Amino acid sequence: MTAPCPLCERSNDPEGSLVILRTRRAVLSHMAGIDLPGYLLLAPERHVEDAGSLTGEEEREMAHLTSRAVQAILSLPGVRKVYLLSFGEVVPHLHLHLFPRTEAMLQDPASLTEGLPNGPAIFERWRQRLAVSVRPPEVDAAILRLREILQR
Ligand SMILES: [Zn+2]
Repeated sequence: MTAPCPLCERSNDPEGSLVILRTRRAVLSHMAGIDLPGYLLLAPERHVEDAGSLTGEEEREMAHLTSRAVQAILSLPGVRKVYLLSFGEVVPHLHLHLFPRTEAMLQDPASLTEGLPNGPAIFERWRQRLAVSVRPPEVDAAILRLREILQR
């Protein structure tokens, strides 16, 4: 990466405690500041602004890691779906958010529109509701579990 990125800096903490897997061209890490085990960020090592700027090798590595990470997140307790999002509005660096949608999230009536899960509303609402300043032990446990699955 060539320019500093606050999101990457938070995820690539010096001890690497949030990093799940680092490959040649990409880093998969747990999102900081949230009590949602399995909420991961995937970013290419090279600082590119959007997915349209990836090289062929980066494309393959990002796609491969996305697929493996989604499988691993779906194996965590209570996770039913994994939402994939990329905005690029706050920092000019491609990050793919892998957001676990749990069974419990649907217990909140605000998560549903006409009886169906409303993905964008769920993402927005639960990111706020689950924000924390101290990393919970459940997130540490999920990091260890995901490393176990993905590093083999
Ligand atoms: Zn970044």
